[in-house]
Amino acid sequence: MPFAFNHNPLSILPSVTVEYAHLNDQDVVILISNNKVLISKCSPLLPKSKIDLIAKPPLLQLGQYKSQRVFIHNDLGGLGKTQNSNNWWDLRRMAVEMRSDLASIAAQACAINHWHQNHQFCSKCSSPTHLGKEHSRVCANSTCKETRYPRVDPAIIVSVINEYDEILLGRKAIWEPGRYSVIAGFLAHGESLENCVAREVKEETGVSIDIVEYINSQPWPFPGSIMIGFHATAKKQAIVLQDNELQDAIWISRQTLREKVENKEISLPIRYSISQHLIERWLNRE
Ligand SMILES: [Zn+2]
Repeated sequence: MPFAFNHNPLSILPSVTVEYAHLNDQDVVILISNNKVLISKCSPLLPKSKIDLIAKPPLLQLGQYKSQRVFIHNDLGGLGKTQNSNNWWDLRRMAVEMRSDLASIAAQACAINHWHQNHQFCSKCSSPTHLGKEHSRVCANSTCKETRYPRVDPAIIVSVINEYDEILLGRKAIWEPGRYSVIAGFLAHGESLENCVAREVKEETGVSIDIVEYINSQPWPFPGSIMIGFHATAKKQAIVLQDNELQDAIWISRQTLREKVENKEISLPIRYSISQHLIERWLNRE
């Protein structure tokens, strides 16, 4: 398994709401409550019959999976409180225990649902908004009509290697003891991705980098980001913690890292994440 959320098979359908009564028998619904999804048979795609018990609200069309239209229902009625809580999974559990295409669909559903739930009012004039094209929110005030589209917040993540083929790892104070990962941070306005990689590494560790190479990316629905993964080589490798984001940063060789992971002195990122993928990629390259 490489990493989660990047195998989304949904094809796009118009963002419209459809009355429950107009669903076809093969349509499926994703029920979301408090950022958790109701799961049946290890899938977030529930047949229409599974939601017969609740009030019949209009459902938001998300896309098409094989021959099935996929809809979202945000559980404002509190169905989540009445169901077995073990059947409500968060995205991290889905990433580990669910088929990757289904977890990817659920990730998109949660991100879009979060967008709509958090943009019910216009940011310019405070009037209510309604659903527009491509999951936009349109201000209902006829003199305003401000339209906003779902936003994805780009973040970079990078494996930095020095001349001794050691990797740069850092840890935040809020993480559990011993946990280390590669360097990451959000893109700033007016910044290229390459500039962002160089700035984040410099700000957090004092290390200057030279060559930046794109590796791959991962949708990161917490709540609406994308992690863009890079590999870079260090030009100046002295570590100076600069902006208090990290509690510690280290250069570490493959052998030492393996020993410390084995001895449980260091723990690495969760296995579905691109951070773990970048570290594994370096570990396996010897
Ligand atoms: Zn407005």
